[in-house]
Amino acid sequence: MAAPRNRVRRPVGSHSLNRRSISTRDLHTSRDVSSRDEAEEARRVQLVEVTIDSLAEVGYVGTTLAVIARRAGVSAGLVAHYFGDKDTLLSAAFRTLARSLAARMRARLALAHTPRARVQAVIDTNLAPEEFDRRSGTAWLAFWGQVLHVEGLMRVQTAYQRRMLSNLRSDLRKLLPAAEAKSLAAMIAAMIDGVYLRAALSDWREADSASARALLTAFVDERLKDLGPAAHAAPERAARARRAHLRVVNPATGAVLAELPADGPAQIDAAVARAQAAQRAWAAASGAERGRVLQRAARLLRERNDELAHLETLNTGKPISETRTVDVASGAECLEYYAGLAAGLAGEHLNLGPAAFGYTRREPLGVVAGIGAWNYPLQIACWKSAPALACGNAMLFKPAELTPLTAVKLEEIYREAGLPAGLFQVVQGEAETGALLTRHALIRKVSLTGSVGTGKAVMADAAASLKQVTLELGGKSPLIVFADAKLDNAVSGALLGNFYSAGEVCSNGTRVFVHRSIRAEFVARLRARTARLRVGDPLDPETQVGALISAEHLEKVLGFIARGRAQGARLLTDGTRVTSGELARGYFVTPAIFDNCRDDMDIVRQEIFGPVLSVLEFEDEEEVVARANGTEFGLAAGVFTNDLTRAHRVIARLEAGTCWINHYNVTPIELPFGGVKMSGLGRENGRAAIEHYTQLKSVYVAMGDVDSPY
Ligand code: NDP
Repeated sequence: MAAPRNRVRRPVGSHSLNRRSISTRDLHTSRDVSSRDEAEEARRVQLVEVTIDSLAEVGYVGTTLAVIARRAGVSAGLVAHYFGDKDTLLSAAFRTLARSLAARMRARLALAHTPRARVQAVIDTNLAPEEFDRRSGTAWLAFWGQVLHVEGLMRVQTAYQRRMLSNLRSDLRKLLPAAEAKSLAAMIAAMIDGVYLRAALSDWREADSASARALLTAFVDERLKDLGPAAHAAPERAARARRAHLRVVNPATGAVLAELPADGPAQIDAAVARAQAAQRAWAAASGAERGRVLQRAARLLRERNDELAHLETLNTGKPISETRTVDVASGAECLEYYAGLAAGLAGEHLNLGPAAFGYTRREPLGVVAGIGAWNYPLQIACWKSAPALACGNAMLFKPAELTPLTAVKLEEIYREAGLPAGLFQVVQGEAETGALLTRHALIRKVSLTGSVGTGKAVMADAAASLKQVTLELGGKSPLIVFADAKLDNAVSGALLGNFYSAGEVCSNGTRVFVHRSIRAEFVARLRARTARLRVGDPLDPETQVGALISAEHLEKVLGFIARGRAQGARLLTDGTRVTSGELARGYFVTPAIFDNCRDDMDIVRQEIFGPVLSVLEFEDEEEVVARANGTEFGLAAGVFTNDLTRAHRVIARLEAGTCWINHYNVTPIELPFGGVKMSGLGRENGRAAIEHYTQLKSVYVAMGDVDSPY
């Protein structure tokens, strides 16, 4: 979901510094680590990362000190100076991988508040999409192959396994007798290794993160239902665990905002029944009537703009300057747009000659589901519910477990606007609750905003009941700046397309291709304006960059920044966690601009979803189009040029669903929004969304007698 609407914003960096804000330039100068220590540490990190790269590409035997030295562009003596021998270096690299996995695990466990959710956290961490990344996956495999022979590796492996098993055992013991808990923990660990090994040995074709997690989740659910002497007690306990409480946290402070019960099968079934009952009358109402309800809801949204923006900021960590001007307004605009279209929904009349005519009826699908991501909670709820309701459907909406609050407010607003009960219901929960929606036989469609892995899982689950799907997924979009572009506009586009909402925007133009002749000037201006960005308390109206959504996500973003440096990109700005003052309580990262990037770097290939911008240089149009398209994603793209014909020629060749010429990330409701390739299916917004929330009925009408051969 792209962030800003087409509205004028104050220029970046035009405010004076205040107590809670911190500019990235200040952070640069105030660091207490000496530059020498930093250089040493950076060198160590670089050598470790190069080792992981080498293991992934040429395996254990091919990874020698000499090879690592050559790849890192240093002497073999220097590598030996830092690490001694090959085994010590490999142990350090293995420890790095294991530590970062353990940190991700801790972050997930901290968010899980029931034993079942904690078991799931272990599964989800070990089988997360980044572990199925060919680079880290193949490196893990190379390490495993040597664990029995190298003592240092064995120590790391044993420590990691022991911790994982003890986490699993201690949580499972709360659900099962000790012996069964122990055996199930061992089985889960073995299955994680097995699924992973199979994926690696099939060259990552036979398993992916989402299906591996789904497999293990189903296995654990099944075991918790059936196990031995606890067979009678366990299902109850498991059911209780499923109806867990979501703990909602303010990512800027770590404070708990609310606790909400998660919905399980019984609640979903009841919600579907209520929705079905209400939907028939709603579908029979005139479009104009439905439009009037949406109009009233839009008006209430606008009246409550500041209150809703405040709540959204508390829950997402996004600056109040954004939520007050964009999030609620974008939702209201969407409701107004579909309110206008509702009365005009129509089929066609078809002339079939003198003896017959035909017509089509555009009918609602029935009960549909919306599942949202955490970056634009209210906006996503509006973007899905407005067309669904305008077309005569009922919608069950599940917000992301991290950001469930404003969708509840939207439900209240719809009721206050006169929407009959049951037509828009918010259900709460984690992925499990989402899956209950996508697998429900009576739900006719699911619209998801989320990651590619979740998109695949949702589509697979929807297949059983042949549900329609709309998938708004991730991206790694190109923003191309030609030599004749108006430079300041292009820099503004790059800032909007990378640092708005702390970079947590799916359509961000994170691969910024700049023509060689203007790169130096572009980078200088970009850097200067980024240094003035104010990272601060999201509730402070002066703040321009707020908090990332969670500790786990922070860890992921910082990991990418470390890998960017290790793989040879030049970090031009700070790009670190804020660890001083009040902001240290939250998940704040200062913007990172990388120069000297290559297309094969992780920061250039993978979606980061944080404030990390990569500058890539190009020479000619043909080359940049090929490189821009060289990704599995295809959500968005932007071109900055003053050459009219080139702008349209290039846009026509870019493989992306949503494009901008001389702007970036503006998303007026009138324009359909969505992706191609792995970035999704279907469109939100515009008239296009109507196609996705209705089905056609064709009617043949005979005007004469039936001419029958029988
Ligand atoms: P996820 O894919 O992790 O989650 C999205 C939603 O799906 C959440 O509500 C989640 O529940 C739910 N979910 C997870 N697994 C399942 C499942 N198996 N069945 C049904 N529902 C499930 O995405 P994030 O919330 O982490 O959001 C970030 C991602 O979303 C990024 O990749 C980003 O690019 C993408 N995105 C795409 C946009 C677009 O319009 N194209 C806009 C915004 C974000 P839970 O919260 O409990 O995990």
